[in-house]
Amino acid sequence: MDFEAPHAHSYRPLIINVALTGIVPAKVKYPNLPVTPEEIGKDVHTCFELGARVFHLHMRDKNDGPVQDSGLFAETIGIIREQTPEAIVCVTTSSRASVSFEDRVAPLLLAGELRPEFGSLTAGSFNFPNSVSTNSPDDIKVLLQTMKERGIRPEIEVFEPGMVDYVKKLITEGLVTAPYVFNILLGSSGASSADLLSFVNFLSRLPDQSEWALAGIGKFQLPTIVQAIVAGGNVRVGMEDSPRQMGIDSWSNAKAVAFAAETARLLGRPIESPSQARERLGVESR
Ligand code: ZN
Repeated sequence: MDFEAPHAHSYRPLIINVALTGIVPAKVKYPNLPVTPEEIGKDVHTCFELGARVFHLHMRDKNDGPVQDSGLFAETIGIIREQTPEAIVCVTTSSRASVSFEDRVAPLLLAGELRPEFGSLTAGSFNFPNSVSTNSPDDIKVLLQTMKERGIRPEIEVFEPGMVDYVKKLITEGLVTAPYVFNILLGSSGASSADLLSFVNFLSRLPDQSEWALAGIGKFQLPTIVQAIVAGGNVRVGMEDSPRQMGIDSWSNAKAVAFAAETARLLGRPIESPSQARERLGVESR
């Protein structure tokens, strides 16, 4: 007999966002980590078929080092547009790969079919375990202004509740428009812990018309997926935040997406359709 969750009707469908590669995980240690444009394109397609809708991209050079190379972004997005045309693409603008500000902006300048729907926007500066993630007020404003001019939407990453308050200031300045797309990242050493009180603190501060997703770093990824699905939000999963789960190095993005999709099914939440995901996140239809 099929199990039907009692309050399924009150849940909005789930949008799954996948951070596929990131900056830190090493291919040599995690064989399923997609690092080349072909591997990333293939992983996007597999994860899309499993229910993922948004794909957060980082690039790697030939030695597996993080690189903010707009040529590689162009090649990868070209493959995605061809193989998975309904996928929603987000390019990173992270400062963590020790790149120049011009390089951070570069993938936002891709044109035509290669123009991404989203650019990531970390709403402040903080420490990772062994490095600093910086985003000065001026850099944030230039990134947002560039996105606005190019018709690209910010995927706002918040690591501390105060960052949400700062985004509200940017909203009043007209630099961020609704719907506000937040990724709440919990469990990174140096930023907010992955506990319920931290989570609630973020939620209590979000402006109206927000679409939020919860992400857990490392061992917190799977518990936060469950937490977000129960709380009615969306999820960010993937090897950028957690390359290893269930004690195995052969974890993969597909396994993370399948875990989220299966948890949603058990709890009575449907997966959002590609066209509705675009509408809810404020990106144009394809
Ligand atoms: Zn990232």
